[in-house]
Amino acid sequence: MGLMAALKYVVLFVFGLVFGSFFNVLIYRLPRDLSIIFPRSYCPHCKKPIRWYDNIPLLSYVILKAKCRFCGVPISIRYPLVELAAGLIFAGVPLLGSLWGYTYVPAGQVTPIHDAFAIAAVSIFFLVLVIDFEHQIIPDQLSIALFAVGWLSVLVLRPGFSPGWASSLIGMFVLSAFFFVFALAIGGFGMGDVKLAIGMGALFGWQQLLVAAMLSFLIGGAAAVFFAGYLLLRRRLKARIPIPFGPYLAVASVVSVFFAGRLMQWYLAFFK
Ligand SMILES: [Zn+2]
Repeated sequence: MGLMAALKYVVLFVFGLVFGSFFNVLIYRLPRDLSIIFPRSYCPHCKKPIRWYDNIPLLSYVILKAKCRFCGVPISIRYPLVELAAGLIFAGVPLLGSLWGYTYVPAGQVTPIHDAFAIAAVSIFFLVLVIDFEHQIIPDQLSIALFAVGWLSVLVLRPGFSPGWASSLIGMFVLSAFFFVFALAIGGFGMGDVKLAIGMGALFGWQQLLVAAMLSFLIGGAAAVFFAGYLLLRRRLKARIPIPFGPYLAVASVVSVFFAGRLMQWYLAFFK
């Protein structure tokens, strides 16, 4: 990697850290139905506004020794971790995209516009993962954002993440209908999963959405077996434990952003 290329990733990382501060705001406020614009960031304990110089990603956490300047209440390690994760997403997604390409956009045909859409999509999935894991909620705003990113990518990207608009249109109804029927008849999935699946369908198109869905069930199944085993060992297994499905959809979707197209071709090759 040349110096200029390395510099690009450093700039993207710093840019990501700044977005990470905003992600922290979203993670705190979206599940609580608070405005994401007003008021400015404040300490959740003493409610004092955070000064700009105390709101520098990663650095402020270290300088303040993980405590609020005013009331001394500890600041969760989650804040710098989310900032770091956002930095890694902004630098890492384009780096991986340049090596692997995106779903079935070959590495040689990746443009900065592809990178921007991939960063936006992975960022949304990251927020879904954190918020659904903590609150068992997938905020509508995230599903709407994914829906917008998905359809915008269909209109703008050549080649796109989705095979085309017809595929995205069908994709909106495939997994979401399954979740909807399942949610009504049996339970286990919520309306949040239904709405996220609509956005996923728009982004991926129906063929790759099926790949993402299969992956999410594989990951979710493996995690459920692992989790049940752990609870059995601790003798705490109850009949029903609500486990959010959004995190599995999110992880499977991130894998799909890079590999869904190739996984599908690999799978279909068995039937030739
Ligand atoms: Zn405070």
